[in-house]
Amino acid sequence: METVNEFKLAQQQFDNVARLLNLDPEIGEVLRWPLREFTFRIPVRLDNGSLRVFTGFRVQHNDARGPCKGGIRFHPAETLDTVRGLAMWMTWKCAVADIPLGGGKGGVIVDPVSLTVTEKERLCRGWVDQVWKNIGPRMDVPAPDVGTTPQMMGWMMDEYSKLSGQYTPGVITGKPVGGGGSLGRTEATGYGVIYTVREAMKHLKIDPSKSVAAMQGFGNVTQYAAIGFVEMLGGKVVCVSCWDRDDQVSYTFSKKDGIDPRFLQSITDQYGTIHKDKAREAGYEIEDAEAWLTKEADVLMPGALGGQITGANVSKVHPRVKIVAEGANGPTTPEADEFFKKNNIFNIPDFLCNAGGVTCSYFEGVQNDMNFYWSKDEVLKNLDDKMTSAFHAVLAMSEKEKVYMREAAYMIAIDRVVQAMQLRGWV
Ligand code: GLU
Repeated sequence: METVNEFKLAQQQFDNVARLLNLDPEIGEVLRWPLREFTFRIPVRLDNGSLRVFTGFRVQHNDARGPCKGGIRFHPAETLDTVRGLAMWMTWKCAVADIPLGGGKGGVIVDPVSLTVTEKERLCRGWVDQVWKNIGPRMDVPAPDVGTTPQMMGWMMDEYSKLSGQYTPGVITGKPVGGGGSLGRTEATGYGVIYTVREAMKHLKIDPSKSVAAMQGFGNVTQYAAIGFVEMLGGKVVCVSCWDRDDQVSYTFSKKDGIDPRFLQSITDQYGTIHKDKAREAGYEIEDAEAWLTKEADVLMPGALGGQITGANVSKVHPRVKIVAEGANGPTTPEADEFFKKNNIFNIPDFLCNAGGVTCSYFEGVQNDMNFYWSKDEVLKNLDDKMTSAFHAVLAMSEKEKVYMREAAYMIAIDRVVQAMQLRGWV
């Protein structure tokens, strides 16, 4: 697998669109880099009495439109550049979704599976201890991402509340329901992906009930995207994939007549690893990591990590594919983008396609501020409205300027952020 530097990719995408927009290079210089970055060490006492020191990050890319917003990833291959790239994408994501927030991202270099529950709690509290003066409901609001869970958000909120001397649920989102969380937040990213796929199908005149999707990953995003594809659109999902800890490789789990996402979810751990034997018993075929990419499907939905569809593997994509819906952040490299453009494949770019999570996080923050909680139907209805109008704004821009959807999404997002910076007198 090619390794992709997320920050270089984010800068490269930005530079391309900045040129298209004739953006003043001086303003571009403000946006090519994060405004603030924190790298810190987190000592954690392990259950066996030894001390392990972890490296943590928080990057605040831009807060012209409102407090920085973005998840915290716990991943063994985390780097400052990954966090920088993802923070930059959060700025565009919040802008394109038209929520009044900026972009940030955090991380820790760790495989969370290697820690016990109590060690995880100490690591989460330790992360907050290092940055609590630089985050807050009006400054920077973290959330879950790869390797982190609602429970972890609950511990982090508690630690911040203790340090600041007051209950502050709005410091972090993605908290458990009943602990300041919002109904619908768990489903929000995956369902949001499906709202945009539904709109893309209307535009392309594809009948959703006859459509087939091939999906990658089986974490929070893919689980609910698969459920949504089957239950909301009436389509068929032929595969998902996941990382196998025992074998240290990924596998594709497929079924020709369609997988049952709720069944797979019932045999999956909290990090999205499917129980191989139980899946095999239930008739699932277990194929290699890249098999998902080659399936005969109308919709391809990468929903795991970045840099998955590259110049090296994009030619394996089946000719039936009409839509690439980017549930993951940064799954497609510029070389793969060129292939999709040439083959007239419709792209729903990551920071539009997966904006449902942060949009629902915004609703969570609003509910925390009001101390008044909405019903799940109300949350999902508002989410659908926001995602649908964001999709159509990008589609309209892409048709007007005759550009690819990714470029259109960037145009809208950059324009909104630049306007906010100008209104505030920064540039
Ligand atoms: N981590 C998610 C993302 O990449 C959600 C961020 C949030 O809710 O703040 O969009």
